[in-house]
Amino acid sequence: MSKKFKRPTLPTKGPNAVWVLLFFLGLGVAYLFWYNSINRDIEHVSYSKLLDQVAQDQIKSIAVQDYTAQGKYRDGRVFSASVAPTERFWSALFDHKVDIEIFPPEKQSWGSMLFLALFPLILLMLFFYFRQNQGGGGGGGGAGKIFNVGKSKAKLFAANQISVTFKDVAGVQDAKEDLKEIVDFLKSPAKFERLGAKIPRGVLLSGAPGNGKTLLAKAVAGEANCPFFSISGSDFVEVFVGVGASRVRDLFAQARRHAPCIVFIDEIDAVGRQRGIGLGGGNDEREQTLNQLLAEMDGFSTEHGNVIVLAATNRPDVLDKALLRPGRFDRLIEVPYPDVACREEILRVHVRSVKLGTSVDLSKIARGTPGFSGADLENLINEAALLASKSDCEAIEIIHFESARDKILVGGERKTLIFTEAEKAMTAYHEAGHSLLNLLLPATDPFHKVTIVPRGRTLGVSWSLPERDKTSQTKTELTSRIIVALGGLLAEKLVFNEQTTGVSNDLEKASAIARNMVKSFGMSPLGPIDYETASEHPYLGRDMQNGKSFSEKTSERIDAEVEKIINDCYNQGNKLLVENRDKLNLFAQTLLEKETLHAAEVYELLGITPRETHNLQ
Ligand code: ADP
Ligand code: ZN
Repeated sequence: MSKKFKRPTLPTKGPNAVWVLLFFLGLGVAYLFWYNSINRDIEHVSYSKLLDQVAQDQIKSIAVQDYTAQGKYRDGRVFSASVAPTERFWSALFDHKVDIEIFPPEKQSWGSMLFLALFPLILLMLFFYFRQNQGGGGGGGGAGKIFNVGKSKAKLFAANQISVTFKDVAGVQDAKEDLKEIVDFLKSPAKFERLGAKIPRGVLLSGAPGNGKTLLAKAVAGEANCPFFSISGSDFVEVFVGVGASRVRDLFAQARRHAPCIVFIDEIDAVGRQRGIGLGGGNDEREQTLNQLLAEMDGFSTEHGNVIVLAATNRPDVLDKALLRPGRFDRLIEVPYPDVACREEILRVHVRSVKLGTSVDLSKIARGTPGFSGADLENLINEAALLASKSDCEAIEIIHFESARDKILVGGERKTLIFTEAEKAMTAYHEAGHSLLNLLLPATDPFHKVTIVPRGRTLGVSWSLPERDKTSQTKTELTSRIIVALGGLLAEKLVFNEQTTGVSNDLEKASAIARNMVKSFGMSPLGPIDYETASEHPYLGRDMQNGKSFSEKTSERIDAEVEKIINDCYNQGNKLLVENRDKLNLFAQTLLEKETLHAAEVYELLGITPRETHNLQ
């Protein structure tokens, strides 16, 4: 009996609105069953048959309401019928001395009528109740939440509940450096205020999923020993206009009570997308939510307590620019995919809790897992441990890691980039090509760093850093930039006699520079004439027929000059790479192994003397 009433999926604590609703729902269903069951034994007869039976004196009694009738035969059976309450009907009943009872209309089954009327309402309320509880099972789980739509769904971790610190986050050295300041501030805000230093408010962590954004945010709270509120951007978004905004308000009201503390908003792009670009002129609800978030961040002041907002996103490019203004998320910290050294460190952090066999070499595993995120690596160790325990091994051996890796790669469990050794080698030569030309040419910005660790949608990056802000550039500098931009393509063709689509961005850059040299800077045999501005200044009275200030013939000459510049640069770059083929090979091979190389390492590797002052001549 008691078993029947156990509903394990629902909370069992305390009387509340939903229990009352469920009670009425049950009552209504029971009533309908009862009503049906008593009606089941009733025989339905047609009107003409009923009149016959009346004439034959078979009917003992009858009760009539409107057009329906129920009654008893003389042998005790019960019947029902639809009747036409006419003169003839009544006189037949009177003639045969049937016992008649009349009911006023509407009296029957008021319960089911009421139930049917309320049923949709009850369903609706139950629907919202379950929606409300879906996935948000963090705190309390109280069913009374149906009336708490506007409360935030943030999870609160008290300071003593957080055991994560920076030492649990492997690699990401730059990010940790940047976040140290936030930790200092949270530890002693008074010191910051006394010195009049700018108080940090929001930090945006950007990077692909699984690379430790949440972990870092939590580690900041752990380091500063302060409470941590965690919520996802999508938790704010609801069907009702205004709910998201009131959730934001509630979240920050709570946070201020616990200040100093950290509010972590995961997937901020769910609310923070650029406003007014949705279908049908934008999404009111999301905009209101975003506006409320901006208002809360602007409204922080020291009296309200010190709340620092850390937000995470994979798409910083789609965020509303208003979010990135000073005083809001004005610090951007990148959390990239780990390179080989960093992958080894991450593995080291996560193998602390498992037993490794002697055959396991973590640096080898790190080398064999390019493109894996931190979460992928953690998953790899779990899978390997599972495989080891399935085959009754004492410890995890290298074979377990290898089959776990294959399982993850083949099973498509990873959503991140997967590349083959061949693709990786191609990327290494491509980036080495850019970087080497950057180093060899005299009029370039100093080389800074190169990586073949993927970021966003690019496979690799080669950086140079300008020494000073330039207001003008020489012709030599511009051609050098074109040559460097073509370096990736040149290396691919030289080494593999092949080309990839990865060059499209490079070519766009190179062509744009060449076109500007011809059209705006007078750096071609077409002479010092501006061929560009006409379309931008139609009121200057130039010939606007095709939006150009030059003829078709000139247009062809411009194209020819652009082509000539690009070709010259291509040949110069090719010559340089051919002459320095050994350097290119050494560079690319080392890059394949280390994945990231800084300027100093490259100078040493290739025996090149850094050119400190080349831009200042
Ligand atoms: P994100 O928030 O960027 O999606 P998470 O912080 O949720 O990523 O990372 C998921 C898991 O991956 C973490 O709980 C952690 O176990 C592991 N992980 C990711 N990056 C690192 C790292 N740098 N060091 C240690 N573990 C990491
Ligand atoms: Zn490139």
